[in-house]
This record gives sequence, structure tokens and C-alpha cells, in this order.
Amino acid sequence: MEIAKVGVVGAGQMGNGIAHVLALAGYEVLLNDISQEALDGALAQIVRNLDRQVSRGKVASDDRDAALARISTTLSLAELGSTDLVIESATERETVKQAIFEDLVPHLQPHTILTSNTSSISITRLASRTDRPEKFMGFHFMNPVPVMQLVELIRGIATDEQTYQACFGVVERLGKTAASSEDFPAFIVNRILMPMINEAVYTLYEGVGNVASIDSAMKLGTNHPMGPLELADFIGLDTCLAIMNVLHDGLADTKYRPCPLLTKYVEAGWLGRKTQRGFYDYRGEVPVPTR
Ligand code: NAD
Repeated sequence: MEIAKVGVVGAGQMGNGIAHVLALAGYEVLLNDISQEALDGALAQIVRNLDRQVSRGKVASDDRDAALARISTTLSLAELGSTDLVIESATERETVKQAIFEDLVPHLQPHTILTSNTSSISITRLASRTDRPEKFMGFHFMNPVPVMQLVELIRGIATDEQTYQACFGVVERLGKTAASSEDFPAFIVNRILMPMINEAVYTLYEGVGNVASIDSAMKLGTNHPMGPLELADFIGLDTCLAIMNVLHDGLADTKYRPCPLLTKYVEAGWLGRKTQRGFYDYRGEVPVPTR
């Protein structure tokens, strides 16, 4: 089936990146959020990121202008009724995502494919609350979307082959690489990554190291480009905690229990880069460790 117009729900750090790469690949994009501020912020971020790509010679200025012209924004979910594919990328909370799908479904055309960029929530369970579980799947981008090569594609129990192939075709047109994952908590990447980040927070909590020593140990000792705490701030500590809770609940194994210190940071509203403070404080010239 031909996919020409894509709706993106949630204009946060992932939603703006998804809109960016889709528009650059030639799709018409309709970006939705409940907050006008988030929509304005997303568009400004897309302009900044495209400008950087132009200045580095990765994107021609005509292509940047054409991509920007393909992106529209809306506060109304009903307007996404005209799309062929929807990628939901709102806050990582199951009740939020379910409410979005319930509100969205009555407006959709029968052929429209519904997907979620969730990092961890069951695709099968989200799909079961819609009228089209066979046309529903996981479409999981990595952060930052314009830079990262991988997209995890997750089939729910009912996802049909045509839907999978259509999404696979979108990933190819974006010039990215798909990895196929079965629908189990946190899929492949976060099933492996998040317990490592959570363990880094335990290492901090138990005083084995401080923020600087933990990040520098993992960067220099294991050749990771970012330390685990720096990466957690980059992902968002609320998202990290939500994923650990999904692993803990979904796999019923105490080895996935979220570190109390991670919970404390989230309760403080110190969510990482997006709120200017997490394991590092980003309000000054250089990030300063908070412990
Ligand atoms: P974010 O907090 O930056 O953005 C979430 C956005 O969703 C906000 O702009 C918020 O206003 C909006 N939103 C909330 N409720 C909404 C609703 N009912 N309708 C429309 N918009 C709504 O979060 P993010 O990091 O962009 O994460 C979004 C999704 O992407 C989550 O499911 C997350 O698990 C997934 N994800 C995140 C990362 C990452 O590294 N942060 C990586 C891959 C996938």
C-alpha cells in the first residue's frame, strides 16, 4: 500500500525527530500535541537540526526548505484522519497512549496503519484497545532520530504481514535499518540497555562511585561514546523509570527493580536534559554532576 501522509502524535524530543526524518524522506507530516508550546518548540528544533545538517553539507538547502514545507502541526487528533500511517510518540505512560488511540480511532480511514514509538509497553495490549490489531505494530526509533540508524519493528500477536511490510518500506525509505523484535517487555535494545543504566544508578546510590567516575569508567573502560548516567539524562529519567517499571512488572523478576535514587530524581522533576537537570545540571556553560 502507498503511504504518503504520516501523523505523528507527541511533539517531544522523539516526535520532532520523527517528523524531521519523515519530511526529509518526502512524506507529508502532520504533527500533533496537546500543547501548542510543544508544537512550536518542535518546529523550532526541526529548523535548528535541519540547518545544522545543511551547514555540514549533509542536506541541500532546497531539500531543507521542501522538508519544512511538508510539516504541518495541529492540536486536534481528528485531523490525523487524513493520514495513511500514524506514529504515536507521546509520553511513556500506558493510560496516556490508550486514551490517544481511543480518541483517534473513530477518525481514521480503514486502511490507516497505527503504530507506537513506545520503548517498552506491550504492542499486543495497546493494539487490543483499537479497532485494528492486525494493522497495529511497534515502530521504535532511537534518540536522536536524525542521527541513529536503527528502527526496531515490533509485531503484536495479531499484526499482519502487509502491515509489517508497509512499515519496513517506510524504514527503508528513511535510509534506516530495521531490526525485528518480538513483543516482550522493552523489546531488544531497552531490555539490554535499561538494566545497565539502572545498575549505574545503583552504583551511584550505593556510593561505589560518583557521577563523574561512573561515566568516565564506562566511557574509557568499555568504549561507550556516552557514560550511562549521561545517557540516562539524554533519554529522560522519567522514560528510564517507566521502562524499568515495565520490565519489573512484565517479567516479574526482582533483578529489574528500579533504583530508589532514579525514582527520587523523577519525583524531584529532575528528568535530565529536557528539564535542564538530572544526574548533571545543564543550566550553566558546562554540565555539572549533581552527586
Ligand atoms: P517527551 O517527554 O519529550 O515528549 C512527550 C510529548 O508527548 C510531550 O510534548 C507531551 O506534551 C506529549 N503528549 C502527552 N500527552 C499527549 C496526548 N494525549 N496527545 C498528544 N501529545 C501528548 O518524551 P519523548 O522522549 O519524546 O518520548 C516519547 C515516546 O518515545 C515515549 O513512548 C518514549 O518511550 C519513546 N522513546 C523515547 C526515547 C528517548 O530516548 N527519549 C527513545 C525511543 C523511544
